[in-house]
Amino acid sequence: MHLYQLTAHELHELLINKELSAEELNNYIFDRIEAVDDQIRSYITLTKESALERARVVDKQIQAGAKIAPLAGIPVAIKDNICTKGVRTTASSKMLSNFIPPYSATVVEKLEAAGVTIAGKTNLDEFAMGSSTENSAFFTTKNPWDTERVPGGSSGGSAAAVCAGAAVCALGSDTGGSIRQPASFCGVVGLKPTYGLVSRYGLIALASSLDHIGPFTRDVTDCALILEAISGNDPKDSTSASYKTPDFFASLINDVRGLKIGVPEEYMAAGIAPEVRLAIEQAMSLFESLGAVVEYTTLPHTEYAVVTYQIIGSAEASSSLARYDGVRYGFRAPDAEDVMDMFMKTRGQGFGPEVKRRIMLGTYVLSAECYDDYYLKALKARTLIKQDFDRAFEKYDVLLSPTSPTPAFRFGEKAVDPFHMYLSDICTASSNLAGIPGISLPCGFVDRMPVGLQLMGRYFDEGTLLRAAYTFEQNTGYHQEFPEI
Ligand code: GLN
Repeated sequence: MHLYQLTAHELHELLINKELSAEELNNYIFDRIEAVDDQIRSYITLTKESALERARVVDKQIQAGAKIAPLAGIPVAIKDNICTKGVRTTASSKMLSNFIPPYSATVVEKLEAAGVTIAGKTNLDEFAMGSSTENSAFFTTKNPWDTERVPGGSSGGSAAAVCAGAAVCALGSDTGGSIRQPASFCGVVGLKPTYGLVSRYGLIALASSLDHIGPFTRDVTDCALILEAISGNDPKDSTSASYKTPDFFASLINDVRGLKIGVPEEYMAAGIAPEVRLAIEQAMSLFESLGAVVEYTTLPHTEYAVVTYQIIGSAEASSSLARYDGVRYGFRAPDAEDVMDMFMKTRGQGFGPEVKRRIMLGTYVLSAECYDDYYLKALKARTLIKQDFDRAFEKYDVLLSPTSPTPAFRFGEKAVDPFHMYLSDICTASSNLAGIPGISLPCGFVDRMPVGLQLMGRYFDEGTLLRAAYTFEQNTGYHQEFPEI
């Protein structure tokens, strides 16, 4: 076992027992980054100096005999669409390649208050649009299990960093699956919380009614720790819920007796790889043998999820991205003849092809002639999808499915046809449309590539998800497998 394979809660023990100092730990992680990041390319920016400075503060507290918080001194990576004061935040776009935010996102402030050190900013698909990091304006991130395969997306850098031991934990954002799908492709734990539980203040918006921030970790215990640190009401985010955050740590109980688990048959159907289906069926049997009640159920509007997501997501994206005009901040095209020319050249040169595609699609579905046929219809479909979940949760405590119908695919395999790529959101987009929480955790391997199990829960019932996920993890060993990198 190497130090880079340990979880935050294991490292915490070493820190408080003075077997390791926070400065040593942080130096060690930066050495690890140096050793592996040439191969996987998970980071856009490293923040070594400030991380070491913060680590030394934690060490002083330990030496003074103070009780340190569970995440104190732990190196965490932040997706590069989450603002960090004074540290370049690019959203992997040429448009923001030199943008230095004057403030930090609430989640970053909360993590810093919990004592973490920020290791750096991780790669993503441009403005979080994509499922593979192939849409990053800078470079692609590789899957640490097989560098010829994608790490998933859009939070591919965060997932790959945690998987390769280049960060202990990370934050990502999830608008249609961007935390859970890369977590599943890289064999780590990823959680998208209930809409409103975690503040999005300081997250560069893709689609505000669908955007969420959440953790990537190496096990479920760390997931609970990070979630605990970042959740809670924030007056700076008007969609933040006034909800008293429960003690997520208390949900880590190895017991699912009596838990009612529904398996939506639509998620086990079209396009699912046979080996993924097998891994999910084994997970179902395991839960059953541990005393849960597992049954097939139905979410009948699932077939509309991907198009509904794309219509609403693109409509909102076209409006969120209107602010990038070369006037206020970010890239401005040189050599413009007049102000209109400057707008056009800036947006033409600053955005990549996927971003332009969605701006055009979004503008089209919001146009006066198309609004009723597309945008309004998509809003109605969204309600039907939400009602499917409401009905299912009358009967079941948890819904279980694959996170993605396939394990990580090869570079280029899906990039040729955007719709082909969009279909990889089939198991994840519905929960963004409904706003319910979802977690992905490793549940097996196909040819040494991880398979992810998704558990979805009722609004603000992350506790039950963590309990089910923890039980699964404690009765399997997948989270203790590491890639050879
Ligand atoms: N893959 C989805 C998309 O391309 C999800 C992106 C996300 O969650 N940010 O939109």
